[in-house]
Amino acid sequence: MTRALLAIVLAASAVLPARGQQPAAMITRAADALGGVARIRAIRNITVAGYGEQAYMNGGGNISASPDAPQKWVSVPEYEKTIDVEHMRMRVRQRNHQNFVFAGAAGYLGAPNAAVAYLDGNVAFNAAQNNRMVRANDQAARARRIDMLNNPAVLVRAALDPASRVGNVRTQGGLQLGDITLATGESLTLAIDSVSGVPAWVRWMTHDENLGDVTFRTSFTGYLPVKGVLLPMGYNTVIDFRSVVQNKLYVDKYGVDETIDDLSAPADVRAAVAPAPRAPSPEATPVAKGVWLLHGNGGANSILFEFADHLTMFEAPSNQAWTQALIRLARSTVPGKPLTEVVVSHHHFDHTGGIRAAMAEGLTIVAHKGTEPLFREIAARRGTIAPDALGAAPKPLKFRAVDDHLQLKDAAMQVDLYHVVSSSHMAEALFAYVPAAKLFVEGDFFDVGWELYWWQKMYADNIAYRRLQVDTDVPVHGRVLPLADVLRDIERQTKAAADLCARTAAAGLFTPGCPVKTPSPILQDTPSR
Ligand SMILES: [Zn+2]
Repeated sequence: MTRALLAIVLAASAVLPARGQQPAAMITRAADALGGVARIRAIRNITVAGYGEQAYMNGGGNISASPDAPQKWVSVPEYEKTIDVEHMRMRVRQRNHQNFVFAGAAGYLGAPNAAVAYLDGNVAFNAAQNNRMVRANDQAARARRIDMLNNPAVLVRAALDPASRVGNVRTQGGLQLGDITLATGESLTLAIDSVSGVPAWVRWMTHDENLGDVTFRTSFTGYLPVKGVLLPMGYNTVIDFRSVVQNKLYVDKYGVDETIDDLSAPADVRAAVAPAPRAPSPEATPVAKGVWLLHGNGGANSILFEFADHLTMFEAPSNQAWTQALIRLARSTVPGKPLTEVVVSHHHFDHTGGIRAAMAEGLTIVAHKGTEPLFREIAARRGTIAPDALGAAPKPLKFRAVDDHLQLKDAAMQVDLYHVVSSSHMAEALFAYVPAAKLFVEGDFFDVGWELYWWQKMYADNIAYRRLQVDTDVPVHGRVLPLADVLRDIERQTKAAADLCARTAAAGLFTPGCPVKTPSPILQDTPSR
């Protein structure tokens, strides 16, 4: 049969509805390609061992907000996934460490113990200290069910189940696509090669706090036979945000139908209630006249400024629910004045987790000019998967770009916004200065909770460059502290980073950021302004 004729035949078969309890023809073809319907149905378990890389913050944690910024990678040197296909249970054991500098030693070098996550049906649980098992939330359970299905043999086996539905079968290029809905509720799109029937990729949608609806697509490549089942040696997952490669998995070894551990949830875990997210309850603490720190244990801080006729917030952090609570708190702290704008320190997704909530409130986003395209991109993204603030109340973006300096000033308040210099962490960032109270309001300059400091003389450089008189640090992470304490702590954290570099170098390991670069050369030839 010619390729063209085959395509016509395939297109014709694609319009036939799936009949009764029979599996869809497309799924049968995929199963035949992977080893036969009977072999796929008989699979008891699959283990995958390998290593990989993950895109930090899905691409939202890079040096700039540009799509061309070099991606920061989280390394996954050990990865092991055991899928008990018979009982729909899973265990994922992995080690992660960042391939870039940041504040925690465990994040930088890897934690002493591997992270172990389990799934048993709808029950997600984790191994905690002393091998105690702790129930995880329903969101984790949903994500792990998708992760379990992110394997061609497991997905095709699940789709062969008479309770699964396969619809909208169509051809696209050299692929045949079908939408699979499992009895357990998951919806995924599978693409198989039109000629060979081998699965090419799987695609699914989920909600993201920063991006609204997101679609992930994992491509399967390099199939090899393992005990009569074809399995791919490479998994590459791409997100529909700037086509960022979100996950890479290089397979070392597969096992099929080997003796595996019992992955069932212990009785006490199964009986425990899945932890629900705590309702955010931030509080407002006065810092100076017309300035409050909005803080609590549900997310990062925001700072509230009271102007003569309006209010301004600094930062919409963490997630949408937290930022909505901060916005409510801002309004109740100074009743009678409208909250009109939010200053964003920098685009990193932990600092902008609530940006869709701020946009939905109609607040003007005040941020560095380099971040405007990213925030336009975010504002235009759909949010059909609830809860998404912007999806529920779409608004056109109001954006005010800041270049080197913007002064917000009226009879009641003056806040100077400056472009951050001397930073290897964020190149398109702003900090705020309140001259009346000598406050330095910042995100990611300093956190009293950090173990390691890599940002050289960033804090002191920015004060010197702008010729500021600073008494007090008002942070997005941590608590309000006198500047002298901050500078002393930065020295301590910098020394801890230098000590860590000495330890890794002694072990023959050459790690990012080492040796610590200090003092910074940035101000040597730059006049202050
Ligand atoms: Zn950051």
